[in-house]
Parts: sequence; structure tokens; C-alpha cells
Amino acid sequence: LDRQGPGDDAQTRRALSFIDGLPPRPRIADIGCGTGRQTAVLASALDGPVTAVDLLPEMIEGLHRRMETEGRTEQVTGIVASMLSLPFAEASFDLLWAEGSIYNIGFEKGLTQWRRFLKPGGVIAVTECSWLAPSRLPETAYIRENFPDIGTPAAKVRILEKAGYVPLAHFVLPQHCWTQNYYAAVAARIPDFLEEQGHSPAAVRMAALMREEIEHYCAHGTDYGYVFYIGQKPEK
Ligand code: SAH
Repeated sequence: LDRQGPGDDAQTRRALSFIDGLPPRPRIADIGCGTGRQTAVLASALDGPVTAVDLLPEMIEGLHRRMETEGRTEQVTGIVASMLSLPFAEASFDLLWAEGSIYNIGFEKGLTQWRRFLKPGGVIAVTECSWLAPSRLPETAYIRENFPDIGTPAAKVRILEKAGYVPLAHFVLPQHCWTQNYYAAVAARIPDFLEEQGHSPAAVRMAALMREEIEHYCAHGTDYGYVFYIGQKPEK
């Protein structure tokens, strides 16, 4: 797939628009980059070196292919590593980015553990699944299993503050980030995917899970969604 989660180039740029005062040629890390749709936006918007990390070698291969097409192999370095133990030096980045991926480590844990990789004054921007309804929904099994620490934006901003950041902005990603940009591509890919995998039990299960996820979003997608959270590590 072109992207591995809900998002949109315009929303990546919108998140960047809230960030002032990055140094020239900022050092950027994109954590859980997938095949790098947002990495390409970051690399073209910011004139600095990007280190893009994913656990799966196939994702990093996809990232490399994309960067070859974009002519950005010099600017973007892909590495296979876990976000649980990032091979970074302390205070080595101006900007940490994680779209649709921090839930793999957990919002609070990721914000807390990754903070040391930021220089003072550096910025973190992540998307995280959050309640959008004015009152909490009765939790569905899907939400419990996939987003066990879902919370309201206010609660998430509080966590960002507790983890040692000044909240710069947060905003909700529009629904088309899920529907047109992600689920339409997922649904269109399923038949070929099953064919390629010879309808193995694992592939059939994967396809069923994706279809359930899409149905869940169709039924409840006004009640939850991705929110971009942007925070700054104080200078002192
Ligand atoms: N940022 C991309 C990908 C989001 S999907 C996009 O928005 O399109 C989440 C990504 O996190 C997947 O590519 C998955 O392989 C990666 N991932 C999952 N667990 C990880 C871990 N422990 N360390 C690093 N990457 C991980």
C-alpha cells in the first residue's frame, strides 16, 4: 500500500505549519515510517537529513524504492529497528515524527522514552487514535483490542505535558484520511493480496480483520479518529 495508516499529505504539511523556529537543515527522525509516504512530505518540506525507522525490512525496502523515485536517497536514510530501542544518540534530533505508529509502543511510553533523542527546543509530532465524541462510547471489542489506551484529546494533551513537552497544537485528521486515503486502498488491495498469498489461513484471517476494521469505522467513525499532537521539549 502507498500508506500503512490513515493520513494525508496536506495534514502532514498542516502539522509542520505549527512548528516555528526549526534550525536550517533540521535533523529529523520518522519513527514507524512504513513505506514512507509522510517521510517524502517531510523531506521535501524541510531541507534536512531524515532517518526513517521501521521494524519490518519490507517497509524499509518500500521506503528505499520511494526515495529512489523521488530522488531523495541522499537525504533519507532508512533503518530497520524497533521503536522500543531506537539506535539514536541523546539530543540528536530537531524533529521527531510518528504518524499512525506510536500506538505500537503506547502514546505515553513513546513520548517519554523518545524525549531524550530531541535537542532542547526540539519538537515531536505524532498521530494518535482519540475519542472525538462529546461523551465516551460504550467501548467496542475492536477499540479495546486495537486502541486500549484511547482517550479524549484533552487527556492526551495532559499526557503530552506530563511527558515533558509544551503543547504547541493538536488537530483532528479529516475523515477522508481514513476512508479515501486508507480504507479504499485496503479494500481494493484485498482480492489480489489473497490471490498472491494462495488464500492461506493467515491471509484470509488478515483480510477478515481488515474488513471488520473498515466496517467498524463505517459504523462508529464519527466517534473516534486520529488526532495530530505536536509538542516542544523546552529549551531548559
Ligand atoms: N507512518 C506510516 C506507517 C504507519 S503503520 C504511515 O502513516 O503510512 C505503523 C508502522 O509501524 C508499520 O510500518 C509497522 O511496521 C511499524 N511498527 C510496528 N511496530 C514497530 C516497532 N516496534 N518499531 C518500529 N516500527 C514498528
